[in-house]
Amino acid sequence: MNKQMKLTPNQTAVLETLSKSDKPLSAYEILNFENIRDSGIKAPLTVYRALDKLIDKGRVHRIESLNAFVACDGKPHIEPAGFVICESCKNTLELRIRDCEDHLTKDALKKGFQVKGIRVEVAGTCSDCQKS
Ligand SMILES: [Zn+2]
Ligand SMILES: [Zn+2]
Repeated sequence: MNKQMKLTPNQTAVLETLSKSDKPLSAYEILNFENIRDSGIKAPLTVYRALDKLIDKGRVHRIESLNAFVACDGKPHIEPAGFVICESCKNTLELRIRDCEDHLTKDALKKGFQVKGIRVEVAGTCSDCQKS
């Protein structure tokens, strides 16, 4: 395992919490999730620090419109991820957006726009909520 992939105990605890949750969590929700405090995480700043590193390592993504975080559902990657977000249950699923990212960047550049980042967050209703 190379250095980049190695996680500190705090990062591991935060990542495990996000993986256990079926919904995106805010930093405060992480702090109050089950027994995370047993792992020594007691302050929001500790959570934020761990989240920053996990995002850098491509293990966690931030969902801007929810101001919350999710564990990546696949192999670690630093390319931006897109999400579908269920408006009823707040469940989210990750989308692969590499192709549309290129397309959007090119289109924005053509308009003379300097691109800093791209967010793709699709609001709607998940398949479970459509049934009920
Ligand atoms: Zn991902
Ligand atoms: Zn739903």
